[in-house]
Formats: sequence, C-alpha cells, structure tokens
Amino acid sequence: MLIEQYDLEVFSPPCNPGAERNAARARLTVDISEILPYLNATLRGAVYHPTANALTWKKGGHNIAFHAYEIASSNVEDREVAEKELKGLIDLVNRTWECRAEIQPDFKTRQRPTSMAIYKLLPRTNCKLCGEPTCYTFALKLAASQKKLVDCPLLFEPQYVDKLVALEKIAIEAPAVG
Ligand code: SF4
Repeated sequence: MLIEQYDLEVFSPPCNPGAERNAARARLTVDISEILPYLNATLRGAVYHPTANALTWKKGGHNIAFHAYEIASSNVEDREVAEKELKGLIDLVNRTWECRAEIQPDFKTRQRPTSMAIYKLLPRTNCKLCGEPTCYTFALKLAASQKKLVDCPLLFEPQYVDKLVALEKIAIEAPAVG
C-alpha cells in the first residue's frame, strides 16, 4: 500500500471565502509523484503536468489535483462528503500502485478540448433531447465529463456521422476508473 495514513483538511476556497461549498485536501506522509504517470495512463481526462509534478482530473463535479504530498478535491458539501471523496481517491491511488506492473506509464500531457471546440461539432439544433436547454450547455457539460456523446441522440443520425467521429477523437468522457 502506498498511502497508509493522511490528514484531512476541509476549508473554504481562498478565492471564495464563506462559500457554501468547500474544498478538501489530504496531506500525505509519502511522495506519490511516481504514481502520477500511471494515473495519467488510466484516468480518462486526466492532465499530467510533469514540470509541476502534478496531475489534475475532473470527477463528476469535483476538480481533483494530485501532488507529491497532497490530494485535493473541490466542491465538497461538508466534512462527511470530503472524507468519502478523499478516501475514494486514496483507494484509487493505492489500487493503481498495486497494479502498476500491468500499466504502461504515460508521461504525456494531454489537453482537454474546449467547450467551443466541442460545440462546433454538435448538431447545433438546440433540440433539447439531451435534457439541456442548448447545444452549448451540452458542450460545457461534455467538456466537464458530466455528459457523454450518447446523451445527444442526434449525433447518431447518419447526417452527423462525420461530427460524431471527430468528437470521438477529442471528447473526454466520464472517468474510466473511479
Ligand atoms: S440533443 Fe444534441 S442537438 Fe439536441 S440540444 Fe442536445 S446537444 Fe444539441
């Protein structure tokens, strides 16, 4: 097991003191830098920053950051939610560490597509079949991994096949591991 103990801290984000949503971080007693390229290889949508020795990832409505001695999550309601969220992330790191011999580490930095790049490839009918009021709202949620391509039924109609293929190349959907 890589991480055996940690201290949990829940706090208001410094840029938004008094906010209803908090941020949380687990302060670690071990350096997890070595596992970051393995997480980069297995977490869809992760962005590895080798020079900063950090990896960022969107999981549901949370922005997650893995650093050498710290794992942080945004947007937690309270301490109970924070404990559960951070425990899940610690377990994820430990599981990845145990399986690292079977994973090809990935040292590349992959950028997430912008919502505008996604929007340009959507049918742009604002038909609302995805449950969103506009295609641009859908693009914002797809960029944040809160929606999937299958949630837009029009994309699977024959006239949009080129757009679908292009979107499949750039879109980063829900995390593969979590
Ligand atoms: S279902 Fe597709 S085309 Fe319709 S509003 Fe949603 S994203 Fe746009």
